Amino acid sequence: MGEELERIEPGSFGRFLRFLALGRVQYLTSLDRFVTRNFDHLGQFLTPASVAGIFRARAHRRLYSVASEFFRDERLRAAVTFQTMYLGISPYESPAVYGLLPFSELGVGIWFPEGGLYALPRALERLAREVGVRIAYRTRVKRITFEGQRARGVLLDDGTHLAADLVLCNADLPWTYRNLIDPAVTRLRRAGRLRFTSGGYMLYLGLDRQVPELGHHNVFLGMDYHGSFEDIFRRFRVPADPSFYVAVASRTDPSLAPAGRDGLYVLVPVPRQHPSLEWATVGPTVRARVFARLREEGLDLERHVVTEHVFTPDDWAARFSLEHGSAFGLSHHFFQVGPFRPSNQDPKVRNLFFVGASTQPGTGLPMVMLSAELVVERMRREAAAMGARLAPAPLLAPEAVA
Ligand SMILES: Cc1cc2nc3c(=O)[nH]c(=O)nc-3n(C[C@H](O)[C@H](O)[C@H](O)COP(=O)(O)OP(=O)(O)OC[C@H]3O[C@@H](n4cnc5c(N)ncnc54)[C@H](O)[C@@H]3O)c2cc1C
Repeated sequence: MGEELERIEPGSFGRFLRFLALGRVQYLTSLDRFVTRNFDHLGQFLTPASVAGIFRARAHRRLYSVASEFFRDERLRAAVTFQTMYLGISPYESPAVYGLLPFSELGVGIWFPEGGLYALPRALERLAREVGVRIAYRTRVKRITFEGQRARGVLLDDGTHLAADLVLCNADLPWTYRNLIDPAVTRLRRAGRLRFTSGGYMLYLGLDRQVPELGHHNVFLGMDYHGSFEDIFRRFRVPADPSFYVAVASRTDPSLAPAGRDGLYVLVPVPRQHPSLEWATVGPTVRARVFARLREEGLDLERHVVTEHVFTPDDWAARFSLEHGSAFGLSHHFFQVGPFRPSNQDPKVRNLFFVGASTQPGTGLPMVMLSAELVVERMRREAAAMGARLAPAPLLAPEAVA
C-alpha cells in the first residue's frame, strides 16, 4: 500500500496513516456516542460530551473536503471517499464522520459469511424459530390498523386481520407512513422535505468461465468524479462514465458458483426514481457502458454471460417497497441522523415501532442490525408500561449473536 501510494503522490503514505487514525476516532466515537443508543430528545444527543464527539469526528464537515487536506491527487481523494456511496450519499455532501467507512474496511477488516450474505437472514430465521416466532412468507401487509391512538394489528392482503399488542414494522419507514398508515391517526413529520439516498442499478451475472483478473471486491471509478455525484444527486441522470462496483463472491467461497465458473454482481450507483428517468430505456444503456468499461480494462465478459438478472430503482420500489426506489432509504445528512432521523417509535401511537434503514440509527446491514437492538429496548419499555411481565434477560445473549 505504501509503495503504491508513494508512486502516485510522494509523501502520501504517512498522511494516509493519519487519515486512517482519524477514521478510527470517527469509528469509535460513532459507536460510543451516536449509533448504539436511543435518543428521546435533542438534549440527550447534544450533551457536552457528544458535541465534543461531533467535533472530534468532524461530523460538522464534509468528507471530501477533509480528505482533500490529506491528499492532493484526485485519484487518492476518490479512493478514500467513494465509500460514502455504501450509504448512498455523495462524499461532497456526506458528514466527514463517514471517514469511519474506509477505516472499517482497512483498519477493522471485512467478514464474509460462508454461503453468501443470504446466510445471515437464514441464521436469523433459525434463531427466531428457536424462540417460537412464526414466520409467514409471501404475505403482504395492506394496512396497519388502529383504535384511537393505539395500533391494533395489521390487515393482510387476503383480508386476514392479525391483532397485536405491539406492532413492529420493517418495511421502509417513509413508504409505510404513506401507504400503510391512516394520516388522520399519525403522520411522518417533514415528509415532503426529507432527502433520500441514491438508487442502484444491479446486474447479477452467471458466467461460463472464471475471471481470475477480478478479486472479491472491485471498484471501477469513472473519470469525472465530482460530476458523477452532481449527475446522481442533483441532475437525476446516469453519469456518462459511471463508477461501479463488481463483487465476485465465488472468489472467497467457491461453493457459490459451479466448478470452473464465476458469479458476479455489478452495482452501479444511479439516481433514485425520477420522472425524467425511464428505466426501460436507460437500463440497457447503463448495461452497455458497464460492459464497455470492463472491455477497456481487458475483461471481455459479455459473451460469457449465461444467466442474468437486472434490478433497477423501479424494481427496488415495486418489489421491496423502497420509497422512490432509493436503495438505502433516507439519506444521512447531518439533519437526518441521530434524533433528527425518524424515530423507531411513533411519537403519537406509542405501540407502533419501526426497524430498518430509514429509522435510527441508519442504513446498511450493520446499522440495521443495531436498529433491531435499539427498537427491542423501546418495545420492552412500552410492554412494561402496558403491564406485561418480561423476561429479565435480553432475548438473545450477545454470545449467541456473535
Ligand atoms: C443494491 C444494494 C446494495 C447494497 N449493498 C450493501 C452493502 O454492501 N452493505 C450493506 O451494509 N448494505 C448494503 N445495502 C443496504 C442494505 O441492503 C439495506 O440498508 C438493508 O437491507 C435494509 O434493511 P431493512 O431491514 O431496513 O429493509 P429490507 O432488507 O428491505 O427489508 C424490508 C422487508 O420488508 C418487506 N416488505 C415491504 N413492504 C411490505 C409489506 N407491505 N408487507 C410485508 N412485507 C413488506 C420487503 O419485501 C423486505 O423484505 C445495499 C442495498 C442495495 C439496494
